[in-house]
Amino acid sequence: MTVIGVDDTDSRERGMCTTYLAAQLADRLRKRSRVERMLLVRLNPAVPHKTRGNAALAIHTDLESEKAFDLAHDLIAEIAEIADEHTDPGLVVAAGDAEGIDRRISAFARTAVTGFHDLNATLSLIDSWGLRHAGWKTGRGRIGALAAVGAWTAFDDWTVEHIAYRDPDRWGTPRDVDIDSVFEAADHAYPAAWDTVDHDEADPVCVPHTPGPVLYGIRGDDVDAVREVATGIESEPVHTTELFLANQGTDAHLQHGEIGRLEDGRAYRVTGTVAEPPSTRRGGHVFVPIESGGQRLPCAAFEPTKRFRDRVRALRAGDRVTACGEVAEGTLKLEKFAVRSLVRTEAVTPICPDCGRSMESAGADQGYRCRDCGTTAPAKVEQAIDRDLERGWYEVPPCARRHIAKPLVRGGFDAPTHPER
Ligand code: ZN
Repeated sequence: MTVIGVDDTDSRERGMCTTYLAAQLADRLRKRSRVERMLLVRLNPAVPHKTRGNAALAIHTDLESEKAFDLAHDLIAEIAEIADEHTDPGLVVAAGDAEGIDRRISAFARTAVTGFHDLNATLSLIDSWGLRHAGWKTGRGRIGALAAVGAWTAFDDWTVEHIAYRDPDRWGTPRDVDIDSVFEAADHAYPAAWDTVDHDEADPVCVPHTPGPVLYGIRGDDVDAVREVATGIESEPVHTTELFLANQGTDAHLQHGEIGRLEDGRAYRVTGTVAEPPSTRRGGHVFVPIESGGQRLPCAAFEPTKRFRDRVRALRAGDRVTACGEVAEGTLKLEKFAVRSLVRTEAVTPICPDCGRSMESAGADQGYRCRDCGTTAPAKVEQAIDRDLERGWYEVPPCARRHIAKPLVRGGFDAPTHPER
């Protein structure tokens, strides 16, 4: 077996897509040999040089490595968007089974999802492991390509994505997809297929808006479910389709973190206590600070997270939460949070039992009294608060989901969940 890794062949402006290049490569490989599986690997979404979705691709094939390398090399040279100034394609090919890949390459893949790699150090590793490789321009794409080579043994949670591609003649033109059929097919296959649509926003999120070759991408937990959705969608003619195993929807980017010890450009799960009431700022962005061990962490739910902001606004000082998201400029960009405990009561000025009006302070440490009736109370009283939150996990809606973030409907969380769909 041979493992082929490719990355950074796409273009934000010109519409190529690394998954499409991989699909084309798989077609050519199938004419000569067998393709065992295709991996779509989302790398650290915070990497500054990233391509659109920061995706690297791996193809596992029976074709011998030298021939596989030549095929991949020719195809990249032929169709990658090398003219795009931000596109720096990379190709790395390893001989042998994906299961038998050097454990250090698996570790490299994990770090590529949770952290950062330097290009020169990466090239030294590739050379020391004797892997075939090629880079175009700076060849930065070899970082993602090596990560893709190590991905199969780096992660144990794999989801699927069925991607339908457009006829090249239609690229850049509006997509002709019957939206009602998308919603109907999505409902039918939910929850095995997820993030196909966003009901509240009436958004068919599986259909991209970018000029690229993808007509739609259906994500889910099993192959039958995503294929069933695709079958139900009425659209312009589908040019080709490809099925990928992906680390999408797995939270593979999150690591355990402690407030005060977080780094920009990485994503964490952190637990703390809400320090101040949430505030909404210009543009509709909602901010809430959480604290732990005397350290504070600002957390933010930005406007595109839509109704999720109402969940964040419903927090109160004193609530205990676990927040998840990427840290940028010292602020955690919320993707989901868990309510661990809620403040259920608040201390309020007592009400006079005779006249029903609010009592007034009788002076420092003198308790409260009613000016009219003369009734007194020794201190503030505890009053129950109506809370719009329950214990458990809340998440951004499908329209705001990051590729790698795990939808709550997939399960496996450590508290009750409140999935968005
Ligand atoms: Zn009174």
